[in-house]
Amino acid sequence: MSHDCIFCRIARGEIPSRKVYEDEDMLAFHDINPSAPVHFLMIPKQHLENLYDADLRHQALLGKLLGMAGQLAREQGLDDGFRVIVNNGRVGRQEVYHLHIHVLGGPEPLGSSASRRQ
Ligand code: 5GP
Ligand code: ZN
Repeated sequence: MSHDCIFCRIARGEIPSRKVYEDEDMLAFHDINPSAPVHFLMIPKQHLENLYDADLRHQALLGKLLGMAGQLAREQGLDDGFRVIVNNGRVGRQEVYHLHIHVLGGPEPLGSSASRRQ
């Protein structure tokens, strides 16, 4: 929990963010450089680099993150669909090495490629 990565610092409140949701396990906050009209990130407070760093010991945490996505998307006005993306490692074009789930949406359908952010 004492990591100095940027998302750990956001989770600890050392760097400000526009919060969507927070509890003892996770934080959701708006992406600073949105790729869609609504674009927020969900992170575990525990530092995991990405899904390579996760295993079945993290089942409850990962399930909780995904299990909150629909509710938080609706609360942000995304009631007609949304996209979730998890980028992992170099090939996945991950930029921040603290596991995060992108949630993207808006009034109109996003770009058609599943690999793109919009
Ligand atoms: P990745 O490419 O690693 O999946 O995505 C990292 C995301 O984090 C990017 O969409 C980027 O805009 C976002 N991001 C990077 N630094 C910050 C920050 O300091 N605050 C917020 N809110 N988002 C950030
Ligand atoms: Zn971290």
